[in-house]
Amino acid sequence: MYALRRFAVRRSRQFEWIYQRFETVLAALDPLLTRIGYGRLERPVAFVEKQLKGLLFDCQMCGQCVLSSTGMSCPMNCPKQLRNGPCGGVRPGGFCEVKPDMRCVWVEAWDGASRMKHGDKIEVVLPPVDRRLHGSSAWLRASRERVQALAESVESNRTALARAYPEARKSAPTSAPLTEETRKEGAAR
Ligand code: SF4
Repeated sequence: MYALRRFAVRRSRQFEWIYQRFETVLAALDPLLTRIGYGRLERPVAFVEKQLKGLLFDCQMCGQCVLSSTGMSCPMNCPKQLRNGPCGGVRPGGFCEVKPDMRCVWVEAWDGASRMKHGDKIEVVLPPVDRRLHGSSAWLRASRERVQALAESVESNRTALARAYPEARKSAPTSAPLTEETRKEGAAR
């Protein structure tokens, strides 16, 4: 709904806060979600996401949500679906050249981003849309990616520690962490 979409942009800072907390909760629920099965959850969660975000942001369910980088203005509502800024046809007053009654989603995005705490994310170039993800839940994807990034950073810290203390590994093999190489060495023995 257009009026609600514009409301979300005017309240982008509050929505940013809500989204951050929501992502944290979803990531914390990862063990439970994994037990239930992400595949099993995909359809019901995507359904709820579509209803809620459709109402608030006119979400088109691209599956790779970038609202936190675009001032809470969904770029998929651009008739040209541009993900990295407006085309050259913005009309005077900030209106779209294709839909003259609609404000350019990128004019709205800059407005929303200027109100957000991390609004400078709008300056980061976004990857092209992966059409294969259309209709899937961006919530579940974001949650899984966050958990995975955390796990990778823990693993790389462990490896750095293991590399920093090779002597500890020799004298106390059970207490020092394993690097990928020492793991392979152990398996080859
Ligand atoms: S960026 Fe994608 S997932 Fe996010 S609101 Fe727009 S269409 Fe929906």
